[in-house]
Amino acid sequence: MYDLIIRNGTIVDGSGMPRFRADVAIEGDKIAAIGKIRESARETIDADGHIVAPGLVDAHTHMDAQVFWDALGTCSCWHGVTSVVMGNCGFSLAPCAEKDKLLVMRNLERAEDISPEAMQAGIKWSWTTFAQYLDAVDRLPKGINYAAYMGHSALRTYVMGERAFDEEATTEDIALMREEIRDAIRAGAIGFTTSRTSNHQTPDGRPVASRIANWDEVRQLVGVMGELGAGIFEIAGEDTGAEGPRLDDYLARLKSLAVESSVPVTFGMFSSRRAPNYWRRYFETAEETAAAGGRMFIQVHSRSLNLLLSFETHMPFDRLPAWREIRKLPLAEQEAALRNPETRRKLVEAAHQRPEDDGGRGVGAEARIANYNWMFPLDKAMPPYRSVAELAAEQNKDPVDVIIDLALEKNLKQFFLQTLTNENQEHVLEMMKNPRSVVTFSDSGAHVSQIMDSSLQTHVLSHWVRAKEALTLEQAIRMLSFVPAYHWGLTGRGHLRAGNFADVIVFNPDTIAPKLPELAHDLPAGARRLKQKSDGLLATVVNGKVLLRNNEHTGALSGRLLRGPLAGASTN
Ligand SMILES: [Zn+2]
Repeated sequence: MYDLIIRNGTIVDGSGMPRFRADVAIEGDKIAAIGKIRESARETIDADGHIVAPGLVDAHTHMDAQVFWDALGTCSCWHGVTSVVMGNCGFSLAPCAEKDKLLVMRNLERAEDISPEAMQAGIKWSWTTFAQYLDAVDRLPKGINYAAYMGHSALRTYVMGERAFDEEATTEDIALMREEIRDAIRAGAIGFTTSRTSNHQTPDGRPVASRIANWDEVRQLVGVMGELGAGIFEIAGEDTGAEGPRLDDYLARLKSLAVESSVPVTFGMFSSRRAPNYWRRYFETAEETAAAGGRMFIQVHSRSLNLLLSFETHMPFDRLPAWREIRKLPLAEQEAALRNPETRRKLVEAAHQRPEDDGGRGVGAEARIANYNWMFPLDKAMPPYRSVAELAAEQNKDPVDVIIDLALEKNLKQFFLQTLTNENQEHVLEMMKNPRSVVTFSDSGAHVSQIMDSSLQTHVLSHWVRAKEALTLEQAIRMLSFVPAYHWGLTGRGHLRAGNFADVIVFNPDTIAPKLPELAHDLPAGARRLKQKSDGLLATVVNGKVLLRNNEHTGALSGRLLRGPLAGASTN
């Protein structure tokens, strides 16, 4: 008698091998057998007409804070994701003593758009060191599995205090930081992360702490992982420009870091309409690094990187003086103002003026002055979309009027996509298919009112596999499960085979797709966030327990903390 049998499904096992029909028997937290199963089980799922695949892995999230108040692991769990990696881009909540937590939250607030009120209300701080943080996460009830990096901004702030935000580290600072990394990796941190991008600022416009570090500090810190023979290094990279000596210098440094330290180096990469072939240099560097004996893998997205704008959250005009006054008002009063022809005329006029201050310049995923060719009303969950510029030309209207009219039709609840990067979908596909890449980068848990990319996995299945037929299902599942599980060393996950952990999804290949996103005020302290579910998922199994049926929570909370390879190994 097994605990669970998934019967009559079609197995796509994550390896890339062709599908076959079989049952999957689960005993405890493991897959016991795959084939024709004659025994019975306490629980059965009829997967006839459905695909049975490994749970998906998203290695670029910022769930570090959310894991404390959202046991389920939304919105990722709603898209077939059963394991995530958090602590990316230098942002983690440890090491940090409770008395200093505001400093760490300052790193997260603007750079990642996580409400400090939600963090204060939702996190019971019970740690100082990273090892203690891992123990705290370990004790939490969890729907999905979490692996965690230690972030440079937190580490630097822990060791250097306020100096972390404007000073170079001394020899003693570096020695202390190295000691903390050693302890964290031994306790099960999956690696170490940093950010050097100008997109990452604090609320008062200063760089986050990791950006103050010089490259030698980075090298010395990453070197600890090389000495230990464990840990991955993730970096939100430098703003080098699209070509020239700064780019050459940065890529040379990345490559020699990977080769000299023997630590795997990973980072996110996008194509850009402003520099269409810029990304190719990074992939070449990954090849050269491999040839020279290092490891480098590149995190890519599955579609354009879009802000998700609405009058309920952010609009491109928010920081223009004429708009600022209106945008402060409750939504109903904003609607009334926009229905007043005189007010509206002034707002439309103002929307075309470039502000004198930096009013139009957003950092990171903040709204910025729109290019109407790259702004789209979100009228359905899947592309293609028509741009505001196209609609304006067709209707012979001002683009700002198009936006206002559409918004008013929905009582200001209409969403708009504003594309920041990855515009060229041929490049997106080419990057996804590159053997040095891994499809991830949802940023789940961060940018909670700005973007909603927890659906990037279901986008692959609905858009690239079903609508475009550009990938086979076997290729797509491998990209989303086996490949990230392999790179991040999530042993026994990302591949359906007997003896592996029973992280399994059952879905309908004809219907799986993201649903339209919505806005909710369900974070601690009533803070808002974007939410997005999906269609087509029949069941999501985590460590042998059914977490979701028809994407609704069953009550099970069988997720785990996934510690890195040195956890539990004897220390000396
Ligand atoms: Zn990130």
